Amino acid sequence: DIRPITRALLSVSDKTGLVDFARKLAGHGVELVSTGGTSKALKEAGLQVRDVSEVTGFPEMMDGRVKTLHPKVHGGILAVRADAAHRAAMEEHGIGPIDLVVVNLYPFEATVARGASFDDCVENIDVGGPAMIRAAAKNHGDVTVVVDPSAYATVLAEIAAAGGTTGATRRHLARAAFARTAAYDGAIAEWFSSVEADTAPPARLFAGTLAEELRYGENPHQQASFYLSGGARPGVATARQLQGKSLSYNNLNDTDAAFEAVAEFDPARAPAVVIVKHANPCGVAEGASLVEAYRKALACDPTSAFGGIVALNRTLDAEAAKAIVEIFTEVIVAPDVTDEAAAILATKKNLRLLVTGGLPDPRGKGTFVKSLAGGLLVQSRDNAVVDDMELKVVTKRAPTDAELADLAFAFRVAKHVKSNAIVYAKDLATVGIGAGQMSRVDSARIAARKAIDAAEVAGLAEPLTRGSVVASDAFFPFADGLLTAIEAGATAVIQPGGSIRDADVIAAADAANVAMVFTGVRHFRH
Ligand code: 5GP
Repeated sequence: DIRPITRALLSVSDKTGLVDFARKLAGHGVELVSTGGTSKALKEAGLQVRDVSEVTGFPEMMDGRVKTLHPKVHGGILAVRADAAHRAAMEEHGIGPIDLVVVNLYPFEATVARGASFDDCVENIDVGGPAMIRAAAKNHGDVTVVVDPSAYATVLAEIAAAGGTTGATRRHLARAAFARTAAYDGAIAEWFSSVEADTAPPARLFAGTLAEELRYGENPHQQASFYLSGGARPGVATARQLQGKSLSYNNLNDTDAAFEAVAEFDPARAPAVVIVKHANPCGVAEGASLVEAYRKALACDPTSAFGGIVALNRTLDAEAAKAIVEIFTEVIVAPDVTDEAAAILATKKNLRLLVTGGLPDPRGKGTFVKSLAGGLLVQSRDNAVVDDMELKVVTKRAPTDAELADLAFAFRVAKHVKSNAIVYAKDLATVGIGAGQMSRVDSARIAARKAIDAAEVAGLAEPLTRGSVVASDAFFPFADGLLTAIEAGATAVIQPGGSIRDADVIAAADAANVAMVFTGVRHFRH
């Protein structure tokens, strides 16, 4: 199923590798047809090119909006070569075949990313390009489509070896082509929803470009890949990896959880560290320095932190790097890293180090997609932050300033812990985290139990939950969960409130002289 290539249409915005590719095509006897800017670049390089306007008999017009939208182009791409009627139509209308379509699109995503005006973005919506890409991809039985310079080498190699492309390659390229046009239209739809009112539902359901085929998924018998969905939000998808093996599916998932969590902590206020295992924080702390924050976070649950992901909200420095490499860590992610810290980490070959160039805005809008059998669930991301919430004291005793600071800290962490989430905190560090239990009482018990274990490891007389505060991601449906926390030593509580039994829960707090605040905002996370 080799298909020879006699005529190629080249129309590209990204001219990377273009001249070299076109020269080699010409060397194989391929006739080159091209649009304005592409044709100019090829002619300047001394190549023989036919302008598409010569083929269509129409000039390029309307600021380039209409260049290739013509039957002489689309007939040449879409004709099924083995179909006699198609061949007759070509003959009758003087349509020559186009066997190779090389198109990359107006840089719509880049135009949005540089903050261009509305009209500028609209003008960068490519129309003729996607039409040619889709036509060529549909007719992949006969036609080769290339949407990215990274495929030039493969196509040339096949022409050199077999005089044309193989069916397998044409199908593979067709898949890449439709993935590209889908992502392109997805980006346009998402941009429209971003410039509409705040209340507009996310317009994009699923659009991404394949970034990497992963070795496997959550388990070795599952296949997996990583898609980029665009956007300039600093994070795992856009990070630079400075060392270590490539990231696995679980690494990517956990690192994202860790970095989104640490981004809740304003670097202008204090250095902060989050340690994550299985997508849940097992230690979070602010400190006077990164190394202090790391040691406080580690002390929360040193057993679980082994083989964890460490996220930092400031440039990773040498002191913190030295402390982190004392135990086995899978991934470190930070906005940046000092040369000295990088040199320390370089001694650990397997440690993966990611730098993101910044922190995402925890208040930023975004779309969250989850699949279920036969469908997709789509919601806006949880961008509520405790600093914006109106905290209401509901008990006789109001929290002290120190308690209040720890309450806000604990609720910030609870947002990033799987429900039911219970977080004990003291001195701006977690001291017990209960995650993902089906009952809130169990989460409260597990978190307290972990604090007892951590105290044993540290040789402390009593667990750090004594005199701590506690956060709950959702309301206490009964007083029992709260009583468990009080028994563990919590003196103040933060929770959304809103249970029909709030009165019972408040009475239980008052009876123990515990201060409680309601946030009115819930942070379920599943
Ligand atoms: P050039 O730099 O060659 O003048 O333009 C190349 C770009 O034009 C490519 O990104 C291609 O996708 C786009 N393009 C080709 N034909 C058409 C058309 O008919 N209409 C529009 N809007 N864009 C086109």
